[in-house]
Amino acid sequence: MIIRARTVVPMASDPIENGAVAVTENEITAVGRFDEIRRQHGGDVLDLGEMILLPGLINAHCHLDYTVLRGKIAPQTQFADWIRAINAEKAELSEQDYIESIQTGFSEARRFGTTTIANLTAFPQLIPSIDEPMRTWWFGELIDVRSPEQAEQIVDDAVAHLKSARRWGLAPHAPFTASPRLYSRCEEIARRENVLLTTHLAESRDEMQMFRDGAGAAFDFLKSIGRSMEDCGGETPVARFLRTRTADDRWIIAHLNELADTDFELLRAAPKFHIAHCPRSHSFFGHVPFALDRLRAMGFNICLGTDSLASNSDLSLFAEMRDLIQKKPQLPPREVVEMATVNGARAINQRDSLGGIQPGARADLIALPDAGAASSVFERIIAFAAPVPWMMLDGELVSS
Ligand SMILES: [Zn+2]
Repeated sequence: MIIRARTVVPMASDPIENGAVAVTENEITAVGRFDEIRRQHGGDVLDLGEMILLPGLINAHCHLDYTVLRGKIAPQTQFADWIRAINAEKAELSEQDYIESIQTGFSEARRFGTTTIANLTAFPQLIPSIDEPMRTWWFGELIDVRSPEQAEQIVDDAVAHLKSARRWGLAPHAPFTASPRLYSRCEEIARRENVLLTTHLAESRDEMQMFRDGAGAAFDFLKSIGRSMEDCGGETPVARFLRTRTADDRWIIAHLNELADTDFELLRAAPKFHIAHCPRSHSFFGHVPFALDRLRAMGFNICLGTDSLASNSDLSLFAEMRDLIQKKPQLPPREVVEMATVNGARAINQRDSLGGIQPGARADLIALPDAGAASSVFERIIAFAAPVPWMMLDGELVSS
């Protein structure tokens, strides 16, 4: 079939006025001006009219487990207090609550135009009970802070469940909750099974104080629950991570908010992994400004995530793009949209098949009403603040 729209925004190339996309089954076979596509390709024409047609959005970091916690946790001045608050809320939830939470999160993400999601779950055993309405990379979120001697077993048990998913990866939670043995085991399995890795790193001031200074609220809290704190009081979280990891491009690193000057020197020389930035979660915690320009200039691929609704108000990547550009108005709007499309696809190693409208890519498309104001099409995309009225996922029309 041929899908026509007033403006097609392929991301892989410049926007096309009066554009069209040819789709055969679940694959995009051509993109261009409507008259050319019509001449060269057969099939029915679906004319979307005054719409902007673009690739479905890619959420590179979220935790659908906690969709149910929306509005339950107030912003905290200390990250350790937030961890305490979320742990108290989690203690009240049953498996059925988590299944509903994940399912509700999927629906909401899809309503806001997300077609691919990198979702961390602490409950990989629930995956078979969940109807997966979009392309999902399930990352098993792993913590061994209370039982580091069981690191390998914890990873292996999760992998046994994760293998029921079509696409999966491993997520050692963070250096303060996952031991070096757990990280090593995850890397070993990721290489063996050819899967992706993600983790939280340098997220908060508390984390920096804990590792670099051997002090602070996170240090005290984790010490109180029995974590060995021998690795604290010397290195920054980034220095520690880079020293012990083979940080190749399998890693999607969430956050990197709190960085020391020495970290920038290390990162300049480091392998260029992917960075998932979560603008509104960043605002919720009041972290220091994200070093987007410096990290991009070093060659890191920066994509966007919503994080969970324990530190955000909804699962809209449009709202993430708006928050980011409000904080950094000098950013070219096109590059902001790239962060939610092509960059996310690169992070999950799907650059040829997702995040862009190009021949050979999967037919994951969304369309927005085009207000047609004087601003650029990328500004109009970022400004869009309603449920997405039209979506095609894997070549199938999705009813909203
Ligand atoms: Zn997270």
